[in-house]
Amino acid sequence: ASWFGHVEPAAKDPILGVTEAFLADPSPDKVNVGVGAYRDDNGKPVVLECVREAERRIAGNLNMEYLPMGGSIKMIEESLKLAYGEDSELIKEKRIAAVQALSGTGACRLFADFQKRFLPDTQIYIPIPTWANHHNIWRDACVPQRTFRYYHPETKGLDFASMMDDIKNAPNGSFFLLHACAHNPTGVDPSEEQWREISYQFKVKNHFPFFDMAYQGFASGDPNRDAKAIRIFLEDGHLIGCAQSYAKNMGLYGQRVGCLSILCEDELQAVAVKSQLQQLARPMYSNPPVHGALVVSIILGDPELKSLWLKEVKGMADRIIGMRKALRENLEKLGSPLSWEHITNQIGMFCYSGMTPEQVDRLTDEFHIYMTRNGRISMAGVTTGNVGYLANAIHEVTK
Ligand code: PLP
Repeated sequence: ASWFGHVEPAAKDPILGVTEAFLADPSPDKVNVGVGAYRDDNGKPVVLECVREAERRIAGNLNMEYLPMGGSIKMIEESLKLAYGEDSELIKEKRIAAVQALSGTGACRLFADFQKRFLPDTQIYIPIPTWANHHNIWRDACVPQRTFRYYHPETKGLDFASMMDDIKNAPNGSFFLLHACAHNPTGVDPSEEQWREISYQFKVKNHFPFFDMAYQGFASGDPNRDAKAIRIFLEDGHLIGCAQSYAKNMGLYGQRVGCLSILCEDELQAVAVKSQLQQLARPMYSNPPVHGALVVSIILGDPELKSLWLKEVKGMADRIIGMRKALRENLEKLGSPLSWEHITNQIGMFCYSGMTPEQVDRLTDEFHIYMTRNGRISMAGVTTGNVGYLANAIHEVTK
């Protein structure tokens, strides 16, 4: 008998499949709005100038020693200031247990493993829809999943009433996964007022919020503004968990640099929790990679480079916001009778267009436009050069 004869090929990742199909298409008109990575107005990947400068400073000077098990202390320190606020008392009180993580995915996974080990009777409530990998992460960590309603297909906005009902109806002390900003895939975020109500209800129910913050700064262009939801929960005195990623907002995708933090009741608890997070990492990957962490700490630790970063992250956010406007205007100019308001109401990398799988198939077959069949358009793939073509194609398949 063969050892591996029973191993079936894994299901294809729907997003990677889109890219493969795009690459194989010889058409000069082809457009890829599937991929979740930023592109400039020529459709090219971008390395930020602040990152290039940080790399120049590192060049030749980086030793290859292991980082501490919890990762770069400096990177963690800067990450906490970014998420919890520059002058956060919680940081001064050392109440936050934090470790460097393998980008946002690794931070989520580490938290899920922590949850399984130390809160074995809890479940995780995940919004519908969500980034597909959330389901995989908590599944592989063996944490049971529940869902809560989030998106309203008719308004293409937030189903706030249902979301609040599901929060109220969950057993007291439930764990919830919340997207801190730029919800993926819908681009739909609660308003500040709604976040306050959510936070209030979490207090009433004693729920634990875990924030996945993969797009801080990338949504509005201002990292502080994008951390508003977290700050509201902090003001209300919640303990929280937070996954941070530098993939999108610093364009460090392949460097795998991020941070997992858990706000505890006091310093003693934070020390214990941090040591256990390290303990979880040790048999998996021992300690995290050094290069990306150094890039992040150089940028955030140098006032000049940090302001360059702020300018550049705003530049990326603004280009995307501009493309939302252009796409909507083009559709309206073509006389589309449908409402396209949601394109500009939604925020972040993605526009949840409301197109059906059949309409998406037509976009691909007839117009060489590639995206996931749930109708999610990556706004990062939209450029001045293709927005007219894209709008026209969308109009043709939706009229
Ligand atoms: N969380 C959300 C909601 C995301 O959209 C992503 C990336 O697409 C991530 C986490 C994690 O990305 P990474 O592991 O590259 O930081």
